[in-house]
Amino acid sequence: MDIERIAQEAREFGFTLAAPISIETINPMTAVRDMCSVDKCRAYGKNWACPPACGSVEDCERNIKRYSDAIIVQTTAQLEDDFDFEGMDKAAKMHGYNFVSFHDFLREKYPGTEILALGTGGCMNCKECTYPDEPCRFPEKMVHPMEGYGIMISDVCKRNGIPYNHGRGTLTYIGCYLLKERETNL
Ligand code: SF4
Repeated sequence: MDIERIAQEAREFGFTLAAPISIETINPMTAVRDMCSVDKCRAYGKNWACPPACGSVEDCERNIKRYSDAIIVQTTAQLEDDFDFEGMDKAAKMHGYNFVSFHDFLREKYPGTEILALGTGGCMNCKECTYPDEPCRFPEKMVHPMEGYGIMISDVCKRNGIPYNHGRGTLTYIGCYLLKERETNL
């Protein structure tokens, strides 16, 4: 898999930073899952992509280790000041749009590749998640939250030599795509 080329494609898509990272540096932690369970984002227990539906921290770790390659993507905005809520909202929307669009692009361009999309907050592909009454409508499009998976995002950035904070007055949204070649039963 040409992971450098995929990172380049992510940059061309509009992310301000995209780079390969090591799967070995993505280690779910119970302490991060515990922070997620405080339910500040109001998605805990309300979405197939979030805990408890996404499995235990151990289940998430096992799932991550199934993948061979990964890239991290960031969208950094320069804010006018600490109260630039319009700028924050614009950056969040741009990152969310690019994250979903690039996930679609990867699935279409690399049909022989399995992809695990790890983003921010619960999966927002549907206006209302079907959890828990019906199965997920679009399992191939599902986006799991990094925090729900127990991943300390700042730690992953640090271990890969990638900036987490781009300086005073900036705001950065972050996600990852994990990839592996599909197994074929020939
Ligand atoms: S794709 Fe839709 S049904 Fe599936 S987890 Fe996301 S929001 Fe829920």
